[in-house]
Amino acid sequence: MNFAEYFSRDDAPVISFEVFPPKSDKAMESLQRVLPRLAALEPSYMTVTYGAMGTTRVRTVEVASLIQDEHELECACHLTCVGATKDQIEAQLEHIHDRGLRNIVALRGDPPRGQDEFKAVPGGFSYANELVEFLREDGRFGIAVAGYPEKHLEAPDMATDLANLKRKIDAGGQIVITQLFYDNADYFRFVEETREIGIEVPIVPGLLPIQSLPQIEKLAGMCGAKIPEELRQRLAAGGEDADAVRQAGIDWCIEQSRDLLARGAPGIHYYVLNRASNMEAIFEAL
Ligand code: FAD
Repeated sequence: MNFAEYFSRDDAPVISFEVFPPKSDKAMESLQRVLPRLAALEPSYMTVTYGAMGTTRVRTVEVASLIQDEHELECACHLTCVGATKDQIEAQLEHIHDRGLRNIVALRGDPPRGQDEFKAVPGGFSYANELVEFLREDGRFGIAVAGYPEKHLEAPDMATDLANLKRKIDAGGQIVITQLFYDNADYFRFVEETREIGIEVPIVPGLLPIQSLPQIEKLAGMCGAKIPEELRQRLAAGGEDADAVRQAGIDWCIEQSRDLLARGAPGIHYYVLNRASNMEAIFEAL
């Protein structure tokens, strides 16, 4: 099934899990222990992120195939434009297709370490909409794109960022998966703004259950997500008790999930960070 087909069915909300390709063999073993537990929660599909450079890129396809073949869960590969010519992307698409993977989360990617701004390699793509166009011409894959309820960090303003999101949809993006956020008002405002400029595809909220205050401060800084004061206070109330802090993060994610689904979100994409226990707790509560 491609992304569009998942969201065209009228049954339950479409729940997806995102994992990242492990850097070491040890981390890979740990992920292999986690995958059966994630699969047991029966998400509609999973996705595997694409590393900045190096070995984790090879592992994206490896992990996605493993999920699809051994755990019988359809899996999408993330793919970025970083450091790749069109020919290299074409070769990667062949590899992905050969492994039976049929959905791509199409991204520009962040500038490689040491570079202030993103520069396309000669013969490569400058923005995600160009990769989306390329995928649509290829015609074999479902296509998801990234959206930013609180604006992409590089965009001068929300209107510009939304216009750029529309380019990705016009080029062939079938669904939008959002950057993580902790205030649902930002998601619902974003959905409204996309509808106002004629974006009609499903906007799937992306949620990340918080593990600790430093983790979220770092992540939020990296992607521009703001932390509501109430959440900050609840996490701080856990003090040095790591379990209490973690539980506060899970509780917030459960509340966000309930509210999103009750108010019409088409599904939820969970950033599971290669752990099963948080998702098990969230699923039990939901
Ligand atoms: P784009 O849509 O190209 O946007 C980048 C910036 O350029 C924005 O500010 C936009 O407003 C502007 N822009 C877009 N198009 C144009 C245009 N035609 N002309 C002028 N300006 C334009 N990163 C990874 O490295 N690997 C991953 O696996 C990965 N997965 C992700 C999954 C999700 C759901 C999300 C939300 C993000 C993910 N990222 C990943 C991070 C992502 O690569 C970064 O946020 C990156 O900085 C932007 O990627 P994009 O695809 O949104 O880029």
